[in-house]
Amino acid sequence: MRCEDSHAWWRLVDGPGEPPAGEMLCPEDGGEAVVAMRHPLADRVTVTLVPAAWEREGTIGFRDEYFVEISSHRHAETLRSARTYSWETAQERLAWFKDIDWEAAKRRWTRGDFTKPA
Ligand SMILES: [Zn+2]
Repeated sequence: MRCEDSHAWWRLVDGPGEPPAGEMLCPEDGGEAVVAMRHPLADRVTVTLVPAAWEREGTIGFRDEYFVEISSHRHAETLRSARTYSWETAQERLAWFKDIDWEAAKRRWTRGDFTKPA
């Protein structure tokens, strides 16, 4: 979106409707957007690190263990790893899914160690 003073800003809008009124206001000067364009989201993978930390009778375990989860556009499909990873390794695994579409992501998922228990 763009205001009269040529400030430009972007918002992620869920669904087909208009963005909330507040998002149509320039973040710099509060002016109304005079130009608004919609770009449909490309088929890209959403990645999530899910903490596996557990708590029982005051003890916390699995502090540095994370499940890796990937989702297709709008979370239509989700895959979660069978095993857990350390924070550093989990971030490396998530990087495998940078800027690729869902079909490519599923191929990488099956080639990786995600479905194998640790
Ligand atoms: Zn402005």
